[in-house]
Amino acid sequence: MNNMDEVKLEPILTRPRRQMSDSKQKKWNKSGRGKIEHPQLVKAALPRKKTSIVTVDTSKAKSNLDVVRSCLRELGWREYPFGRRDFPCDIYWNTATYQDSGDVCSGKVNKFPGMSELLNKINLTRALDLLTQLVPEEFDFYPETWFLPQQYFQFSATVKSRMEKDPKYSPTFIVKPDEGSQGEGIYLIKDPVDYVMNQRNHVVQEYLSKPLLIERMKFDLRVYVVLASIEPLEIYICKDGLARFCTVPYSKPTWKNLDEHYMHLTNYSLNKHSSTYVHTDSEDNGSKRSLTSVLRQLEDSGYNVTHLCTEIERLIIKTTLAIAPELKIHYRAAVPIGKAGPTCFQILGFDILLLEDLKPILLEVNSGPSLRIDYEQEVASGVYERVISAIDDEIKHPLVRDTLLLIAPKNKLKKRVKRDANSIETLESPIEDDQEIQKYPEESCLEQIFPAKYGPEYNWLRILERVSAIYQLCLGVKGTVSCKMGLTGFRAFTRRCKLTSQTELSTAEIDILYIELMKKWDMSPDKDRNLTQGLCYQGFMEGFLQIAHKKFPSSNKLDTVEQLIDYCESNLELHNYRLGSSILPRVPLTKAERRMDELKNIYGNVPSSLKRPEYFLDYQSFPVESLRNHRKHKSRTGRSNHGNSEKAKEGFSDSDDHEPH
Ligand code: ADP
Repeated sequence: MNNMDEVKLEPILTRPRRQMSDSKQKKWNKSGRGKIEHPQLVKAALPRKKTSIVTVDTSKAKSNLDVVRSCLRELGWREYPFGRRDFPCDIYWNTATYQDSGDVCSGKVNKFPGMSELLNKINLTRALDLLTQLVPEEFDFYPETWFLPQQYFQFSATVKSRMEKDPKYSPTFIVKPDEGSQGEGIYLIKDPVDYVMNQRNHVVQEYLSKPLLIERMKFDLRVYVVLASIEPLEIYICKDGLARFCTVPYSKPTWKNLDEHYMHLTNYSLNKHSSTYVHTDSEDNGSKRSLTSVLRQLEDSGYNVTHLCTEIERLIIKTTLAIAPELKIHYRAAVPIGKAGPTCFQILGFDILLLEDLKPILLEVNSGPSLRIDYEQEVASGVYERVISAIDDEIKHPLVRDTLLLIAPKNKLKKRVKRDANSIETLESPIEDDQEIQKYPEESCLEQIFPAKYGPEYNWLRILERVSAIYQLCLGVKGTVSCKMGLTGFRAFTRRCKLTSQTELSTAEIDILYIELMKKWDMSPDKDRNLTQGLCYQGFMEGFLQIAHKKFPSSNKLDTVEQLIDYCESNLELHNYRLGSSILPRVPLTKAERRMDELKNIYGNVPSSLKRPEYFLDYQSFPVESLRNHRKHKSRTGRSNHGNSEKAKEGFSDSDDHEPH
């Protein structure tokens, strides 16, 4: 079954198919796919023609399958539940990661490479912290966070000093495992000494003890966002979402109620086990409600909901812009420029808590929000059955359907003339002019918030893309694959951007900065391994901020960064590629650099001792002989003396790190 090219399931059983000619049958058998012996399956495995209907591979859709399948049925598109071999599909829908779709080289995949790592609690916090350093007033929607165990002493020292300053200060903290989800492993503490150190990394945040309550219950909002494209960046918000309620009335945290998860944590996956959880088909009562019904209720109570919605949209844009540069780096590592590959889109779930004064606070961003539209119901004692959850279906079905419509190839979309509650009527001819295509977003539950609504307001945040372009340019070949910058890459960055000088930053200072950044940004317990692995983009960004502050001191941090970006871009001769064309091509290699690459292909890595500037200036004079001798000597002794002395000078090994050109 796995070997065959799949076609729409139902028609296989019902629709009569044409018989294969003998020669075709032979060819088919030769291709290895003719192993299927059951006559009906052989027919089903016939290669199909490229179709004008949108095709969707759902072979990895797993828990998303129900909702995706029901949307495909509504749209009349073709589903390939076991994948397709004869032609690529237009859309690949995975539950988990980009890698699940294998070697796809066209179409659209519903996951970005690296997204789940970028959105884990530590990474997200770091991305937002960096921007908080630059513009604190814009990023006050995220709780103060420490990483444990690394920042334990910083955490307890901060708490102690605040307590000394204000004797009434009696905080509560929430400890969460870095890669945890669904409330798993979360606990509240009153004192830093109560932190339980184990094998996992955690984040600890001040517990926000004054949430807005409805009917005395704490709740949070799940807002769905579609990242439709990364180059150019396009962000859509779903007009409806969910509100998830606790199942025990809220009281401020005290020593007595710290362990009451049903009171403090709003996760559905926890609260559904509570005896007081209310499943209902109604959207405005029960433990899970629609976002719009909650907003309506707040509006009726006199809250300024329009302002709240704007604040939520801004929070979403700023968070997405904070992770976008690194996302591009991961995308380019998976699909290098010039290599055929799919483009990506992704549905994200933003979890937002409202405070008493209606201020929205970002709790986390889910890279794979649940798209389940059913739940388990006990129909008789001990007997469970999966039943459709009306509220989930009502929100998630339009979300998935309109996401599919948004990213489907436009030339395959039919003119839609009418949509009522259950159906979309289509005309036979495909849409030809743009005007007609634009009908879709108007009807859609998705609204573009970037760039359409807030593009000009947040253009300044795109300085991040410029820093990431500089980072990418200096990553080197190995770094481009691992998305990490080695010491040689970092040195190359400072050298090529003319940042090192006797008076400002010495080479030694640059090396020390690199080591310090590595120590700070490396979360792995295996320190030595990671020192050779390299610096992530966020670590580089922090180094960039530090250099900017040193080179262009000014009270306005944003200004200093912009000045350094301008300076680096002019030295890297990047002015022609400034924002606008968001894909920055690599700077062409010089003759000497090409020569070095050729030599590298022949002899492997070129030892640092031979990478002298004079060889770059006059590549013809490159001492090929000495390189040969070096290799011979190395193969005889099994190690290179020369290389070792270099390593000793540098303090640690970076020999396998390609020097970027
Ligand atoms: P998980 O990924 O395990 O769901 P979250 O960060 O979403 O972890 O936290 C789980 C729940 O804990 C949230 O839904 C929210 O109800 C509560 N929570 C998380 N952080 C805070 C905080 N800083 N203050 C108050 N409540 C919080």
